[in-house]
Amino acid sequence: MKARDLLTADQDDEIERTLPPSKVIALVAHDHRKRDLLAWIDENKARLQGHRFVATGTTGALVANRCGLSVVRFQSGPLGGDQQLGAAISQGEVDLLIFFWDPLEAQPHDPDIKALLRLAVLYNVPTASNRATADFIVTSPFFAGDYRQRLTNYSKRRPTLPPL
Ligand code: PGA
Repeated sequence: MKARDLLTADQDDEIERTLPPSKVIALVAHDHRKRDLLAWIDENKARLQGHRFVATGTTGALVANRCGLSVVRFQSGPLGGDQQLGAAISQGEVDLLIFFWDPLEAQPHDPDIKALLRLAVLYNVPTASNRATADFIVTSPFFAGDYRQRLTNYSKRRPTLPPL
């Protein structure tokens, strides 16, 4: 198969979903990045109104208590919260991921973090790992408007299971 054929095949295999103006935003921050996340939320409070939030346990509690946002809380990250967020992404329930991970400290749940970031790429979820990227996301016209999100249909790449 030539590269051009592959491109055509890929285009035929896209799935589309429209992200509405009110987004579901997943929030996660490792301990040394929590301050950064809270500061970013405070700075962007007006822009964040009207969106919904889901977060890992401790991050969610801090965001609710210190910033006054209503947040659906999963388990704490090391106790499975990243995996719960990954599952929500795979169900199409998360529109954006703001994940301030710690570049200077190893985490006990590193495989879960990697899995969450992998799923965010797989499902084409806009993801910010630092304040600059998060700023670009919230100031994009797509943030407060509709966004036509195109997903590669990977189902053809999965092996077909034999009947039981
Ligand atoms: P936490 O989890 O919000 O419960 O601190 C974040 C993480 O470590 O992934």
